[in-house]
Amino acid sequence: MKTFTDRWRELDWHHITLTINSKRARDVERALSSARPTPDDMMALLSPAAADYLEPMAQKAQRLTRQRFGNAVGLYVPLYLSNLCANDCTYCGFSMSNRIRRKTLDTQEIARECDALREMGFQHLLLVTGEHQRKVGMDYFREHLPAIRARFSSLQMEVQPLTQAEYAELKTLGLDGILVYQETYHEATYARHHLRGNKQDFFWRLETPDRLGRAGIDKIGLGSLTGLSDSWRTDCFMVAEHLLWLQKRYWQSRYSVAFPRLRPCAGGVEPASIMDERQLVQAICAFRLLSPEVELTLSTRESPAFRDNVVPIAINNVSAFSKTQPGGYADNQPELEQFLPHDNRRPEQVAQALSLAGLQPVWKDWDPFLGRQT
Ligand code: SF4
Repeated sequence: MKTFTDRWRELDWHHITLTINSKRARDVERALSSARPTPDDMMALLSPAAADYLEPMAQKAQRLTRQRFGNAVGLYVPLYLSNLCANDCTYCGFSMSNRIRRKTLDTQEIARECDALREMGFQHLLLVTGEHQRKVGMDYFREHLPAIRARFSSLQMEVQPLTQAEYAELKTLGLDGILVYQETYHEATYARHHLRGNKQDFFWRLETPDRLGRAGIDKIGLGSLTGLSDSWRTDCFMVAEHLLWLQKRYWQSRYSVAFPRLRPCAGGVEPASIMDERQLVQAICAFRLLSPEVELTLSTRESPAFRDNVVPIAINNVSAFSKTQPGGYADNQPELEQFLPHDNRRPEQVAQALSLAGLQPVWKDWDPFLGRQT
């Protein structure tokens, strides 16, 4: 059975980079006037030439967002279950070679975190773990997921790539969505940043969303980590290709795209390419124009002012008050952090900012009463 690897092999990174950089104003104008932009149009929208068209791109992106999603913006919060990791990634504080204190939450600690988050009003949870198959793998999820699920209306996870059968089982345990970012679609750069552990297997990760689609996972999250490769434009285009591939084959699933940019962390690397804030807006608008139905996410990696200005344009989901360490909500222990968030506002402040912008903060993404098809 074909996977995105087959499509990826047809995509030449160097050629795509040159094509994106060669786009001109007329290409951007054609892409902007298209009802359903093609991949070639997407290259124009991501190109340097599109920088002069930010205003019309944002206007169209906002119109499409309101048409498709109304004023609703979902609020979610990450819950870090563990900072154990059996990988070495140059850009991450949880890397196994970093000498930080390691912790995996037990039943009581998870319950305390859940209490704290419910008290703040959250009903939509993103579970995050380092990648440690043996200690934070399926047995751990079987033990803890049902109790967490019972307390929240929707549950997503950022977890190490698993098999299709394991994803199908996670769905029966109450999981609604899985986010798995490729980090970069440039194979040699990927190899330079993933130095030890299972994550070194570029293709196992690349094919993860195919396995998620086949397992019938309701929501699949994609993204690249901006700053790893020397071209954020090309990585964004690869994410777009990945999205189009998946939407065509696993059309029952919903998709989300996130735009993480490198943030300071223990032992972190310097970005190889800089995406400034205007360029981040350009990328967000380009995705909205390419796919009006995709959900776009902006996390607390970005500043409060930037989020307040950009969310009303095209964003569907925002995190709030994120703590990036296990036990971050009930007992704040900064030495366990994965990275430093930029927007540290309380959840009610983020919700208030959304309301002031005329948006509707949505705390509950789904009601368990409505059931899920397993
Ligand atoms: S990015 Fe993920 S896999 Fe890599 S060190 Fe961090 S937690 Fe582990």
